[in-house]
Amino acid sequence: RAELFAKLGLRTVGDLLEYFPFRYEVQAGLTAIRDLKPGTQATLRGEVVEVETRPRGGAVVAVADETGVCVLRWFRRHRGIPLPAVGDEIVASGKVQEYRWNIELIQPRVWNAAEFRSIEADGGLVGVYHSTEGLTSETIARTVRRVLEAGLPPMPDPLPEALRRRHGWPARDEAIRQLHQPQDRRQAEQARQRMAYEELLMLEVALALRRRARTSLFAGIPLRVSAEIDRRIRRRFPFRLTAAQDRVIREICRDLASGKPMTRLLQGDVGSGKTVVALYAALVAIAGGYQAAIMAPTSVLARQHFERLERYLAGSRVRRALLVGGLSSSRRRALLGSIERGEIDLVVGTQALIQKDVNFARLALVVVDEQHKFGVLQRAMVRTKGPMPHYLVMTATPIPRTLSMTVFGDLDISIIDAMPPGRGKVITKLVDAKKWPVVMDYVRKRLERGERAYVVCPAIGEQDPLGDEATKRRSDEATKGRGPADDVQGAGSLESRAFSRRAPARGGGLENAENDLQTVTRVYEMLTGGPWRGLRVAVLHGGLKEAEKQRILAQFAGGALHAVVSTTVVEVGVDVPEATIMIVEQAERFGLAQLHQLRGRIGRGQRDGLCVLIARGGGEAAWQRLSVLTRTTDGFRIAEQDLRFRGPGELFGTRQHGLPELRVADLIADEKLLVAARNDAIAIVDADPMLEKPEHAALRATLLARYRGKLELLDAG
Ligand code: ADP
Ligand code: MG
Repeated sequence: RAELFAKLGLRTVGDLLEYFPFRYEVQAGLTAIRDLKPGTQATLRGEVVEVETRPRGGAVVAVADETGVCVLRWFRRHRGIPLPAVGDEIVASGKVQEYRWNIELIQPRVWNAAEFRSIEADGGLVGVYHSTEGLTSETIARTVRRVLEAGLPPMPDPLPEALRRRHGWPARDEAIRQLHQPQDRRQAEQARQRMAYEELLMLEVALALRRRARTSLFAGIPLRVSAEIDRRIRRRFPFRLTAAQDRVIREICRDLASGKPMTRLLQGDVGSGKTVVALYAALVAIAGGYQAAIMAPTSVLARQHFERLERYLAGSRVRRALLVGGLSSSRRRALLGSIERGEIDLVVGTQALIQKDVNFARLALVVVDEQHKFGVLQRAMVRTKGPMPHYLVMTATPIPRTLSMTVFGDLDISIIDAMPPGRGKVITKLVDAKKWPVVMDYVRKRLERGERAYVVCPAIGEQDPLGDEATKRRSDEATKGRGPADDVQGAGSLESRAFSRRAPARGGGLENAENDLQTVTRVYEMLTGGPWRGLRVAVLHGGLKEAEKQRILAQFAGGALHAVVSTTVVEVGVDVPEATIMIVEQAERFGLAQLHQLRGRIGRGQRDGLCVLIARGGGEAAWQRLSVLTRTTDGFRIAEQDLRFRGPGELFGTRQHGLPELRVADLIADEKLLVAARNDAIAIVDADPMLEKPEHAALRATLLARYRGKLELLDAG
């Protein structure tokens, strides 16, 4: 049995006590066997008169009370669960059925009579635990009950007394008992909130400490911006900065001048002008006599960045270099040498840039572009030699507040919330697949008048259905949704919740013909053999060679192609201002945030854009979800909705990408608790940075146990 518990991650009594029910069932009063009604849920008490096992773990047990006999029937019992014996007095609860003139309970839960009396004494709420093959919720409950009855050892409470009082929460041991055996639902929820708050407080204190360690242990490089420098930098841009850009630049300059290393996250929709802000910061560093590095996620994007910067920097004295894979080794060596001698001021490259063999002479600023993967970020922030550089991390993925307070809780956050002037609007339409011919005829007319379109599909081709991200994700979901693994994770892991929240939106599935995967190949054939016959159309996807992709994009940008049919490769970075139309096939297969990113590819020029989302399945739930996009272009609102519909796992990829593992708290439902925990954590760390006060001793011990090795400051102390 210990092995079974270990499968659920439960190795000690402490683990078990913190393994809480995920819901409660009301155990209604007892019904006499004579009064059982088929089709209802009922609980009876009686004596076992007969026990019969059946093949494949099935069993039939007859129970009698003063009014009659009832059969308990299991078709498949979990291995290792003892059957009651003849003569036992038991309580059984389950669905009542009539079968061949017998009254039966199907797959019932069973307790011995003594256990049941204590459940009744507790108010009749029975906790239901995530279980695993061979270990039922009842067995877990029984084990918890035994531990609680034996009496809890004294338990240190990491919540400082004063905080607990202020929020009106029970002590830890009290809360644990109440979560397992609540008197009523109100008490269970109160106890849950307390444990959720505790969990969030731990996380936020850890983040506050880490942020403090970064900013107070390491000296930063003070960089000041004089009016003269500001004027010289602004002269580089052929436009006035927007008010949002100005505000963000002020926030950054304050950090740069502070003498502490900046660790700031800059959020802003695609096209909001983040690159310009990054360049401003880089030029501040360079004006101060230091070096700056800008890192992009791929070589292609690094190259694009470099070309863009070249345009702004034409004629300046800034010495700049592009450092990407594919350089000859002598060229690369020469470049590394110049960087090391401080003969290059601005280096643009991929993430490998500051990690590998590159030694900067005087690096003062690192810009990480289009990055929302926490792991990558953390690695990017490893300390380099010399003083710690300032970090500016940029992302076009709007991150809902609850997530940025947890995943990026140790970073400062700036937001560009307005677009540069003179942009066209993008109108978004959600249409049913039945309208496909009408839509394509209409778009054809616009293409013939000189507009250009992207058609985005969820996969490449039949022979390679996993060739792209959206499809891969879907197949992950399919495997995640089955089998005991799901149950094991279920303890409240974000992923399993994300799954259950997502489930209703999926509907249909592949077996449904109208919901067949719309692949690039197939859509290309349907269009060029049908409504778009005679137009110049090409396919574009990740399976093509880099040079081939570049060639097609160049043709598209130059007007030699009317349209490209592609996978989501156009999501990041591709910049064709003349493209004004985007059609997304099977939009229900994409996340809202992703669709929002995709439509950011059109309307980059002055003309208005049109985005058509074609829904081919998923039913009402998918339609509701997608319609959010027709109502708003506010990336944050969209991200909040995405979080609600699909859970945080979808926004960030997988667990490795830094989502904190929360067992009790729910990032969506517990936003208020999170905000309270964050404020309390900041106050605690401000008042007692080393957590040395006696009232923080338990907090400190718990934190060290949970985050050992990840808390620079406390580890040192
Ligand atoms: P992001 O990196 O946020 O996607 P960019 O910095 O690439 O956005 O800017 C998108 C486009 O907007 C670029 O062509 C840039 O030259 C232009 N742009 C940036 N800031 C302004 C501004 N203040 N006024 C006008 N155009 C701007
Ligand atoms: Mg950019």
